[in-house]
Amino acid sequence: MVLSDLEVAPPIAVSPDSPRALAMVLFGSPGSGKGTQSKFLVRWLGIPQVSTGDMLREHVRTGTPIGKAIGARMKAGSLVPDILVNELVFERLRKPDCERGYILDGYPRTPEQATELLRALEGSETTEVVIHLVVDYNVIISRMAGRRVCPKCGTLYNAISNRPAKEGVCDLDGTTLVVRDDDRAEVVRARLNEYEALTRPVIESFRQAGVKLFEVDASDRGPQAIFESIRGALESSGLVAANVAKAVTELVGK
Ligand code: ADP
Repeated sequence: MVLSDLEVAPPIAVSPDSPRALAMVLFGSPGSGKGTQSKFLVRWLGIPQVSTGDMLREHVRTGTPIGKAIGARMKAGSLVPDILVNELVFERLRKPDCERGYILDGYPRTPEQATELLRALEGSETTEVVIHLVVDYNVIISRMAGRRVCPKCGTLYNAISNRPAKEGVCDLDGTTLVVRDDDRAEVVRARLNEYEALTRPVIESFRQAGVKLFEVDASDRGPQAIFESIRGALESSGLVAANVAKAVTELVGK
């Protein structure tokens, strides 16, 4: 099965026995593959990806007042203030396309953000689940060294698992690929240190709150194998109806 096959997924987010919206947190260090897995999950579940990195980059790209205020921090790979990110996320989650659920990518990233999210979800009609993509430190370093981005459309490429058809050129629009400012080696190390200090403890907040959490080995398997693990975990736990996957399988004739 390839990613495009999943486009035929029926737009059912959660089990018919549990008609609650699915609040999914895709958790993992920079370079753990959250963006790639989000794309699989969006197609499978028919709910949107809410990526704080993408939202913040869009502000920087279009030069909004928020973008101007955070540009330097983003470039340096430092986190932007919690209060700003929280506001952007909650505004986004109120949009109608999030009614049946959403996939949070890159949020929450600090204990304060986790507290805000857990507070917002308390008593809400959602089923919460955290998927933790676990990746070895050295694998991350080498993955991020090979990462390139299209400055025009934002597509990410990777020397290991997602090479462009023509070296150094975007498959979609032919633009010359560049290294994202915050993917430079010294910045990557700073981001990983920040992740260890600030973001990893977020897992504890979820554990303490009793949120269902799945650890998925995302070190050295291909993106599809990792997606299958996530899908298997969600189905066998009953959080997502197995018949969603079955319908997809039948349709694509896997
Ligand atoms: P990666 O997962 O590769 O670190 P992202 O695209 O998720 O990249 O984030 C890029 C940058 O956006 C971060 O380095 C940080 O400056 C900012 N950012 C994204 N999400 C958050 C967040 N939840 N809180 C604070 N800053 C964030």
